[in-house]
Amino acid sequence: MASTLVSIAQMKCPRCHEGDVFVHKNAYNLGNAGKMHQHCPACGLDYQPEPGFYFGAGYVSYALTVAVSIAVFVALFPFVDWYRWEIYIGVIAGALLLTFPLLFRYSRVIWLYFFVKYDKQAISKYKSQHFHS
Ligand SMILES: [Zn+2]
Repeated sequence: MASTLVSIAQMKCPRCHEGDVFVHKNAYNLGNAGKMHQHCPACGLDYQPEPGFYFGAGYVSYALTVAVSIAVFVALFPFVDWYRWEIYIGVIAGALLLTFPLLFRYSRVIWLYFFVKYDKQAISKYKSQHFHS
């Protein structure tokens, strides 16, 4: 479980925990931030199992948005009076704007992890299929 969390944090393939999901490391390289590999570079997992697969990632994205909002609210609460709601709204909106590229990526990665199980042998299986000796 710990290794799964680390792999999600590093946006690694859900099956082998080795290959990258996204082409570019930097989520803030905005032109290319959403660009995914077609297949896992390490184990060959198809990252687009079916058309529209990532529509469901919207639910994850929504959950992450709520989580960030609550986290910001809790972090501000000791310092800002509760009736200064415009400060809360402003800081939460700013935080969501700043984290948007990350939330976009993590929602897709987490969505993949819902459907794909870790397979320790994935890479060696993939290699034996593609590199017959
Ligand atoms: Zn993989």
